[in-house]
Amino acid sequence: MKDKKKDIRALTKEQLQQFFVAQGDKSFRGSQVYEWLWNKSAHSFEDMTNISKATRQMMEDNFVINHIRVDQMQRSSDGTIKNAVRLHDDLTVESVLIPTKKRTTACVSSQVGCSLDCKFCATATLKRMRNLNPDEIYDQVVAIDNESRLYFDKPLSNIVFMGMGEPLMNYNNVMKAIEKITSKEGLGMSSKRITISTSGVPKMIKKLADDETKVKLAVSLHSAIDEIRTTIMPFNATFTLADLQEALEYWYEKTKSRITYEYIVWEGINDTRKDAEALVQFCKYVPCKVNLIEYNPIDDGVFQQASSEATNMYESMLERNGITVTVRRSRGKDIDAACGQLANKSS
Ligand code: SAH
Repeated sequence: MKDKKKDIRALTKEQLQQFFVAQGDKSFRGSQVYEWLWNKSAHSFEDMTNISKATRQMMEDNFVINHIRVDQMQRSSDGTIKNAVRLHDDLTVESVLIPTKKRTTACVSSQVGCSLDCKFCATATLKRMRNLNPDEIYDQVVAIDNESRLYFDKPLSNIVFMGMGEPLMNYNNVMKAIEKITSKEGLGMSSKRITISTSGVPKMIKKLADDETKVKLAVSLHSAIDEIRTTIMPFNATFTLADLQEALEYWYEKTKSRITYEYIVWEGINDTRKDAEALVQFCKYVPCKVNLIEYNPIDDGVFQQASSEATNMYESMLERNGITVTVRRSRGKDIDAACGQLANKSS
């Protein structure tokens, strides 16, 4: 019986107001409950202390609140925190809090497993089990915001969709979550502090540009040569670099927002001058910066971080061509919380 009840957070504010009006109550009651559900993150109807007992019981009879549960929290020696998050149907995802001196960033998941099949990513081995609902994405952010306040004395400042899953393959739910995260009734965060990281789904990049969300865009590029990119990211056979380029040009045209390319240099895969030259060429299409990411091994031995000479070669070639480049050190490696390591090992 319990399973038949609808998750109350699947309702929009308007639907909730209409529900109360249909019950003979005021639409204002819907607004009150909505605030409890989102702004105050109520876990149960019991928590809604300014709502009458009878109304709380009525909601109990009709709905459930499918709140996530942080099953396990691990802290890295560098301060990074990883949450193993249990969903209402017992599946799990992971989210990470990354603290720096100036800010705390939440790295959140958008799918259980992933739709894509990047050969170097631990999440890809899980396959896609399902998309996360907007409230499940929102709850991960709230949990990390609470941890940020508790352990670092400051609210969460940034959000990156770089956890498990491909956010642009769960577009509608990710957008609904962002709407809640940025709204007054939610967390009131600025969308400029949110980055969507994608493996590069051209059609959806264009849609994101059209929807004028003001979020930042990061693209996991890893190679600017089709044959190589297709071996490490097989979906590139369908979504080719030319299509990606066209979508990115469209994105920039519409948003004027600079794109970040995430790039790992692997030994024997993309560590030659030719690879770096192709990247430089790709960087000329739209204003961008390059984030050279350290590779986090996922235990299969095929991929290995290239030598520091190769990384330096990339760095200097990009700089010489006037392209901003940063080198991202991994955080939270000791607890498998670093990029590409999220695979529910703890559960
Ligand atoms: N699907 C999205 C978001 C999740 S991956 C995307 O592809 O962007 C987040 C980032 O981690 C991506 O840049 C991805 O390329 C990178 N990544 C994946 N596996 C990694 C690994 N083993 N080591 C380091 N970074 C990795």
